[in-house]
Amino acid sequence: MYETQLRRMERTIQCFTVNLKHKILGIVLEEDEDEDENENNASDSVYDTFVQCFSVAKIPQSQVSQIVYGPKNPSFTAVLQSYIRNRRFNTSSTPKPNIIVTPFEASHVSTTVTCAKKIGVQLKIRSGGNDYEGISYVSDVSFIILDMFNLRNVDVDIKDETAWVQAGATLGELYYSIWEKSKVHGYPAGVCPTVAVGGHLSDGGYGNMLRKYGLSVDHIVDAQVVDVQGRVLDRAAMGEDLFWAIRGGGGASFGVILAYKIQLVPVPPIVTIFHVEKFLDQNMTEGVFPLPRGHAKD
Ligand SMILES: Cc1cc2nc3c(=O)[nH]c(=O)nc-3n(C[C@H](O)[C@H](O)[C@H](O)COP(=O)(O)OP(=O)(O)OC[C@H]3O[C@@H](n4cnc5c(N)ncnc54)[C@H](O)[C@@H]3O)c2cc1C
Repeated sequence: MYETQLRRMERTIQCFTVNLKHKILGIVLEEDEDEDENENNASDSVYDTFVQCFSVAKIPQSQVSQIVYGPKNPSFTAVLQSYIRNRRFNTSSTPKPNIIVTPFEASHVSTTVTCAKKIGVQLKIRSGGNDYEGISYVSDVSFIILDMFNLRNVDVDIKDETAWVQAGATLGELYYSIWEKSKVHGYPAGVCPTVAVGGHLSDGGYGNMLRKYGLSVDHIVDAQVVDVQGRVLDRAAMGEDLFWAIRGGGGASFGVILAYKIQLVPVPPIVTIFHVEKFLDQNMTEGVFPLPRGHAKD
């Protein structure tokens, strides 16, 4: 009884606060509408210029309408939200992009890079959207999202014990594709199946096979990137310095990763998984780091 009254009071206070805010902010809200209109016009102009740039680059109009989403497109919000993995950044006040591009060919990626550069709008690259801070889809300045989810092909060559995997493929899809071809091959990478290759492999990548095989980047043998000039480069064309950088240095600092060629590793056909819980007072640290006695004391 007491609780119900309390809730009713809370609701009344909340409604009152909202009404009061509307009254006090009446004039400000009208001004906000003007600001919104200005922002919308600016966004429309970025969109128009961008689409025009795509036509100049001879990307067919039928493809442009399939891959370039402006805020007025009815699917814009769904496309934006589908790879926002951190819900803290899925709010109405989270900054939104002017445009989302969802390429399905390398030429779409190249054109996005050159057109974004031409019109001076920041480009955010998103593959699986698992960045902890939403860096792949949030910005303080005007920005475009290059969303790689259509580029998710995994091509496994068991004879060669390698695979070409596109940036938008998730680790789950990669593991499954390898498993479809062989029960005794695997790839050492992370434990979260929705994490994508574009962010994961360019960042480092560690998982359950860390101790035996090291990091994911230790098993990359080739790559395809689009550089700032829109050129598509493989390992030979990009050179060893850039190839080194995109294996741990964060891909987006250097270009857009289209795909990686990875070296598969041998795994047993059956794996036993177990889980042991140990706490500090049970000498857990000694179990994890079996250091020499003298060393452990230091
Ligand atoms: C639930 C969860 C579990 C995780 N588990 C592990 C784990 O087991 N092991 C581990 O090592 N890490 C793990 N991580 C960290 C994860 O590997 C990184 O956050 C990784 O960067 C996510 O990649 P993404 O493509 O999914 O994310 P995104 O948000 O799309 O991208 C992350 C970063 O990479 C850039 N990027 C993405 N795609 C490209 C591209 N094609 N070209 C250039 N730059 C690109 C983005 O701009 C952004 O800066 C985990 C993260 C989460 C949220």
